[in-house]
Amino acid sequence: MKFGTKAVHAGVEPDPSTGAIMTPIYQTSTYVQESPAKHKGYAYARGANPTRNSLQKSIAALENGKFGICFSSGMGATDAVIKLLNPGDEVITSNDLYGGSYRMFKRVFEKYGIKFHFIDLTKTSNIEPVLNNKTKLLWLETPTNPLMNIVDIAACVDLVKGKNITVAVDNTFASPYLQNPLALGADIVMHSVTKYLGGHSDVIMGALVMNDEKLYQDLSFIMNSCGAVPGPQDSFLVLRGIKTLHLRMERHCFNGRKIAEYLKSHPKVGRVYWPGFADHPNHAIAKKQMKDFGGMLSFTLKDDNMEKATLLMERVELFSLAESLGGVESLINHPASMTHASIPKEERVKNGLVDSLIRLSIGVEDIEDLLQDLEQALGKV
Ligand SMILES: *Cc1c(COP(=O)(O)O)cnc(C)c1O
Repeated sequence: MKFGTKAVHAGVEPDPSTGAIMTPIYQTSTYVQESPAKHKGYAYARGANPTRNSLQKSIAALENGKFGICFSSGMGATDAVIKLLNPGDEVITSNDLYGGSYRMFKRVFEKYGIKFHFIDLTKTSNIEPVLNNKTKLLWLETPTNPLMNIVDIAACVDLVKGKNITVAVDNTFASPYLQNPLALGADIVMHSVTKYLGGHSDVIMGALVMNDEKLYQDLSFIMNSCGAVPGPQDSFLVLRGIKTLHLRMERHCFNGRKIAEYLKSHPKVGRVYWPGFADHPNHAIAKKQMKDFGGMLSFTLKDDNMEKATLLMERVELFSLAESLGGVESLINHPASMTHASIPKEERVKNGLVDSLIRLSIGVEDIEDLLQDLEQALGKV
């Protein structure tokens, strides 16, 4: 089945009791049983819920995976993966990670004796020097936030093959429409469902997808034991959102390309970070592992001025100044003072995260209106 057909149909069947075409919201905490040892596959809703089950099947199908597990947030999903590890285990990950993942690894899990190596993963050769027999997990994220760096998933998988190391990929920025890490050899795909999968800025949720049955059993055990599960109402909203994922992504990519090109030719704009440009350092890898280049991009102002960047963000009318991404509406964000404010200035500037860096999550509005809004706002700074 092709992607768009799966987005509409996978995991969803008419309700057996009424024929309802939409999966009902099973708003219940428990299920009545016939006898103590006999139930219809549902005992208590932390363990399983029919609305959630439909969604898990849908997301698994979109990633071409066998099993899906949903969590109450993207961080809840990441948390479950790290809980597969034991004290003394080591993790190799990127120095250019989603801030919340970095914070969890550093401030929650290091004190449990898990060691994290934060390295530049845009060059796969950097993995070998930190690899050792305690390495148990490779945690990748690509494209990265906000500089749109690209990590070669297949090359990373190749480097750790046969070493009993789990490879997990945070696929939030690409969405399953653009990139399928399991097909490139990864063991686990993680999503902040909050973003493109939900797509309407109305739900916080996370998901993991995998093919290995043992991994599925272990992660399900953690899900049920630790309890970071989403509710049925949110599961329904995401099931509904997914039905248009392919249509939304097509428009996100179309608009993203137009805006990247517009900004690149604007006299007040410095650098534009978008993996679709031929001069992006890992453009060839992006082209190889992604179907298109998505709706996320960042840019700087030519004279890198914090006041001008602030003014621009105040002057836009259609773009909303907000954190998050992947929704139908276009958002503008200032990493230096918002999402990445906790990183010391020298540190962030060294990594390219300068004062005037502005991140856009391009929505699905009409491109003419988005371009006109940027044009009028850039004209005022
Ligand atoms: C938002 C985000 C997360 C965290 O997901 P939540 O749903 O907010 O918990 C993780 N990774 C990336 C890349 C994200 O953008």
